[in-house]
Amino acid sequence: AFSAEVVPQAPEDPLFGLMAAYKKDTDSKKVDLGIGAYRDDSAKPWVLPVVKQADDLLRKDPDLNHEYLPISGLADFTSASQKLILGKNSPAISDKRVVTLQTVSGTGAVHLGAAFLSKFYTPSTPDAKAIYVSSPTWANHNQIITNVHLPLKTYPYFSKQTKGLDFDGMYSTIEQAPSSSIILLHACAHNPTGVDPTQDQWKKLAHLMRQKRHFPFFDCAYQGFASGSLATDAWAINHFVEQGFELMIAQSYAKNFGLYGERAGCFHFVAAPSSSAQDEVARVGSQLAILQRSEISNPPAYGARIASLILNDEKLFAQWEEDLRTMSGRIKEMRKALKEHLVRLETPGSWEHITEQIGMFSFTGLDEAQVARLREESHVYMTKNGRISMAGLNTGNVEYFAKAVDGVRR
Ligand code: PLP
Repeated sequence: AFSAEVVPQAPEDPLFGLMAAYKKDTDSKKVDLGIGAYRDDSAKPWVLPVVKQADDLLRKDPDLNHEYLPISGLADFTSASQKLILGKNSPAISDKRVVTLQTVSGTGAVHLGAAFLSKFYTPSTPDAKAIYVSSPTWANHNQIITNVHLPLKTYPYFSKQTKGLDFDGMYSTIEQAPSSSIILLHACAHNPTGVDPTQDQWKKLAHLMRQKRHFPFFDCAYQGFASGSLATDAWAINHFVEQGFELMIAQSYAKNFGLYGERAGCFHFVAAPSSSAQDEVARVGSQLAILQRSEISNPPAYGARIASLILNDEKLFAQWEEDLRTMSGRIKEMRKALKEHLVRLETPGSWEHITEQIGMFSFTGLDEAQVARLREESHVYMTKNGRISMAGLNTGNVEYFAKAVDGVRR
């Protein structure tokens, strides 16, 4: 029944394929700049000290059991997540205009939002039932969205010339999109480019999207990772909420808590301020619960328990902020070191973008052939599009990497 015509062989996931190839490589100089997971200065996975503390507390709890969570997840976790992303004193929260479901990390949140939109989104312009994503975007966006049969379109994002934001291209495509289109936005630390709009550009986008009655869907996978400040990294979302938008947020705790494999995340729907907002939120929440029940029944508990302990305890929260500054600070140092080495080596090209881009990734500008040579000649692993995970660099390998880049640029 499942012949090759019916079920052709699918390509391997490029990122997880890259990870497997890196693991197989036996060269001691090998460098992993592929996967977006934080590494410490010895290239080792880092358990955040605050996560270790929370984990120890949890394990000592004699009442801990393995019962199911409710369909919408752990209530202490979802309520703390609302406050984290929208701010403690958010009128949207006090007006009860937010409904939140705990999801299978950020991926699950993007999926839940996309599934909901596919089923229920009814734009005022009939041909507006499409979601616009940045070009390029996190590769998984494309398949998550097409899997739920939501038409996918793109807006320009990255300028190859400046290696910065193509704001004019982004703006004019969003301007020309049919009114009430869905626009997916990376809240901060854009993946894969490391390029974010400035606050002024966000304001212009919000103004335009209000005029066009577009629907914003924020993907927030790096809160606290971009600037080191949780509030700064949520600024764009909160600006849109303040402007009275109805919107959705996918929130991941993979990177900022280092809880990658525990799959902790949330999906939030925020209704626009109106007298019927509470009723709308209740209806939307009821349908989200049905989608969730049919797909995962209820979300995984352990990571959410760890995050919840930290989010709801002042002392642990302060320790977490410290840990976030450790991660973002080390990444910033590596950006500086990489640029300095490339400048010192007089490597052809301009390298300002390395320190101007933010967050976990940098779009280096290396092309596919150069990326392939780096892997063959120097055992450096990175995605074909020239993206590097800055967290893979450390004081022991940054110079080696810079010299390897220098080699392929000549
Ligand atoms: N969205 C973006 C833009 C990402 O970069 C990622 C992770 O790489 C995610 C969502 C979701 O990740 P996870 O499902 O591990 O939370």
